[in-house]
Parts: sequence; C-alpha cells; structure tokens
Amino acid sequence: MAVAWIEELRQVIQDPERVVAGPSDLDLHAQDFSYHPPHRPDAIVYPLNTEEVSAVVRFAQARKIPVIGYGQGTSVEGHIIPIHGGITVDFSRMNRVVALRPKDFVVQVQPGVTRTALNTALGPHGLFFPVDPGADASLGGMAATNAAGTEAFRYGAMRQQVLGLEVVLSDGAVARLGGATMKSSAGYQLVNLFIGSEGTLGLFTELTLKVYPIPQHIAAARACFDTVEAAGNAAMAIISATATATRIELMDQETISAVNQVEGTNFPSKATLFVEFASHHRSAVLDDLAQSANLIVEAAGYDFVVEWDPKTRRELWHARHRAALAILAASQGTRPFTTDTAVPLSELSGALRHARATLTQYGIQGAVLGHVGDGNYHVVIGLDPANAAQLKKARMVNDAIIRYAWQHGGTCTGEHGIGIGKTRYLQEEKGLSGLLLWQIKHALDPGNIFNPGKTLPLASEESF
Ligand SMILES: Cc1cc2nc3c(=O)[nH]c(=O)nc-3n(C[C@H](O)[C@H](O)[C@H](O)COP(=O)(O)OP(=O)(O)OC[C@H]3O[C@@H](n4cnc5c(N)ncnc54)[C@H](O)[C@@H]3O)c2cc1C
Repeated sequence: MAVAWIEELRQVIQDPERVVAGPSDLDLHAQDFSYHPPHRPDAIVYPLNTEEVSAVVRFAQARKIPVIGYGQGTSVEGHIIPIHGGITVDFSRMNRVVALRPKDFVVQVQPGVTRTALNTALGPHGLFFPVDPGADASLGGMAATNAAGTEAFRYGAMRQQVLGLEVVLSDGAVARLGGATMKSSAGYQLVNLFIGSEGTLGLFTELTLKVYPIPQHIAAARACFDTVEAAGNAAMAIISATATATRIELMDQETISAVNQVEGTNFPSKATLFVEFASHHRSAVLDDLAQSANLIVEAAGYDFVVEWDPKTRRELWHARHRAALAILAASQGTRPFTTDTAVPLSELSGALRHARATLTQYGIQGAVLGHVGDGNYHVVIGLDPANAAQLKKARMVNDAIIRYAWQHGGTCTGEHGIGIGKTRYLQEEKGLSGLLLWQIKHALDPGNIFNPGKTLPLASEESF
C-alpha cells in the first residue's frame, strides 16, 4: 500500500514520473547482488540535479524518513537494501560528465556516470579512469564504498582518485569539499571522511576525479600453478622485482573452470595469475616480462603466456571481471556470499592457503580469487539464501577467514565495505574508534535518516 506522504513528495519533485512506487520498481530497488534478504523502499525518486536531491533530503528530514542513495545497485553487502523502508534516491539520471579538463588530468562528473561511460568519454583524449570493479558501477556508488578493482594495485582505490565532492548534508545544505588540485593540506581532509561512508553521512551530487594518460605499451600475461599458495608466492616476487606491473590477479582452479564453462574461454584449468605491465617505454615492459617469466618458474609456475594484442587483452580482463558472475552461473539459482579480507602482502600466501583449507574443512564449494597485488582476496560461495544450514556454514567460513586475517594484521574488508553484512565485525576491528564512528554519525546525521542500519558498528546502534 502506498505511503501517505507520496503525493507530497511528488509536489517536491514536480514531475510525477520521477517519483515512483510501483511494485516492480520497488522490487528492483529492494535487493542488491548479494544473498541478503530483500526489503522494499516506500518510494523511489530519480533526481536530475543537486537542488532536487536537497529538496528530497529536507522533505525526508522533516518527517524522519530514511533516505538511501542508489547508484547501480551492484554492491555486495546489502548496502542499498532499505531495511527500514524510506525513499531510495536513484542517481541514474544524474549521469552527465560536467567538465573534462585534460590538461589538469581532472574530470567533474555527476554521481550516476558509470565507470565505462566515463572511460568512453576519456578515451578520445588519451586518458582513462583506473578504478574498475567487476560490475559497471556508478562513480557515486564507487566513491561511497571506496571501491577498488584490478588496477588499484598501481593507481589506488577510489579514496586516491576523488579530489573534490559536492555533498547534500542531512539538513539539505550543499557542501563543496576538497577541490581540483592534486594536493591540499587545507585543514581536515573531509573528502576522505565521506569516501567509504556508504550513503550514511550525505549524498554525493558531484565528484571531481583524477584521470590518467593511457600507457602506450601494455602487455598482459598469465601463468599456471598447482596451488593458490604458489601463485601467491609468485605474485609477491613480481611485486618486489618489477616496476611496470599494473594488475596482479589470481583465480583458483574452481574459478577458472567456471569462467571457461560460462564465458567459453579455454584457459588451462589450474590456479592462474593474470598480470599486466604498462609503460610509455616498450623496453621497460619487455624487461619486466622477462623478469616475471623467471620468477614464475622459480615459484613452480608454468605455461607463461604473453598477450600484446589489445583485443586478446580485453578478452582476458573481461574473463577476470566476469569471474564472480561465472561462479554463480555455474551453480544455477544461487546468490553470492563473498568474503573480502585483505592482509599485509607478506601474509598473503598463508592467507590463500588458509582460505582454501577452510572451504575444505566446512565441506563447502567455493572459489578463491582476488586482487592479490593488494593482498585482497575473495572466497565466493554460491548459495540459496533460504537454505539456513548452507547460510550458517558460509557465515562460519567467513568468520574463520576474517579472524585469520585479523590475526595476521588484516581487515575484514578490502574493497566491498560493510553494508549490513559486516556490521558485526566492525566494532571488533575498530575497537575504541568504533565509538568515534558513531560520534561522527551523530554530528552529521543526528536524525539517522541516511541509510540507517548500515556501515556502523552494530553494538552501538541502540544509542539512537
Ligand atoms: C560482478 C561484480 C564484481 C564486483 N567487483 C568488485 C571489485 O572488483 N571491486 C570492488 O570494489 N567492488 C566490486 N563489486 C562491488 C560493487 O560493484 C561496488 O561496491 C561498487 O562500488 C558499487 O557501485 P554502485 O554504483 O552499484 O553502488 P550501489 O550499490 O548502488 O550503492 C553502494 C553504496 O553507495 C551508496 N551510494 C550510491 N550512490 C551514492 C551517492 N550519490 N551518494 C552517496 N552514497 C551513494 C549507497 O547508498 C550504498 O551504500 C563487484 C560487484 C559485482 C556485481
């Protein structure tokens, strides 16, 4: 049944077609990509500009209605599920590249621009944006989760790319944070506070991002290993000895088999490292390829294949980006449960061995893959969320993997964020600074209207 305030909300936007509450729209915005149970919002708004976002927030604040920012809905920890109902603000129509400044290596975008749309706009200028989660996510959503991907190893995650933000605060005021310079020491770095805040502190209405020249010489390579641990050792050796590596990715045998089955590729069905080297100097890439070939043999790797052809390289990285989807497609009717731990690089090989051993111990099918150049690895389990026993086992695997990461100096999430899936771990990971998170939330969103129930340590939520 429609909520009483929906007609008033339509007055705020003054375009009834952009305030919707039909069952299929509500269902589309009730669920993310993960196993978390769906919950509908009460209404969805599609704003076109900052003023409309501000007006919606003022409307919601006056009535204490939850407001949930929505980019492309590809996050994996229940981030966009409106667990208390409310208004979902879908940014897909705020999808303009506002200003492209090639000489400054800077671009200003609305939050609904997707990463591939941005790269299409940058390509003709010889530029690109490096953060590449496997899905075609929105830049607003990526900033809100501090997303990373395969090239974070060289270029960093979203936190390293966002120079400036326009944010609608909880009273509807519009704040402009940061700027367009590569450096600034002007007081508190508030942009950083909002990156990774998962829509709990404010809504982004414009982002100023760093962009980069496309390297002239790029080679991708792959090599096989008998164990994920050996692949991890080779990854560490390549990181230590090469200067031009931009991506170092691992897929275990199970992941490769699923990719071959679903994507029609024919990679050898072995644990495989995918590496990319890029430079403006071909000789630098050639040197690093030669060096890596030796290191891979020393780490008991084999079948070292190099690809220079852009089309073949694209296919190789497309296969990597589709890995999670392939794992799911290979076990039909399931949804993904994904771990996201990161450890210091020296701990990576042991962590990969532990992850595989944990799956075996719990007798659960799962794939191990990751951005190993960053010490970030995932176990992906396809499960039926209605199967309580399966879900419990997956949670036990996740718990064991997180605790192992903590014991070895790691974190419960390298790039996916907290959402609702990891709130139980945040207090333990943050200790006293978990309380600081709540103090910041109280200061910026005293009515708790922004994405309530997400991101903050579970233990303190009752304080609202
Ligand atoms: C197949 C697949 C592969 C993936 N691979 C990776 C990977 O390699 N690395 C990685 O980091 N992630 C990965 N992800 C996860 C996902 O793509 C990222 O979390 C991404 O950043 C989400 O972007 P989105 O636009 O879909 O955001 P959404 O899912 O729509 O939203 C994510 C969060 O951002 C908030 N939000 C959205 N827009 C705004 C805004 N304008 N202002 C404030 N808050 C906002 C939402 O409220 C929510 O809390 C993958 C997902 C899939 C499905």
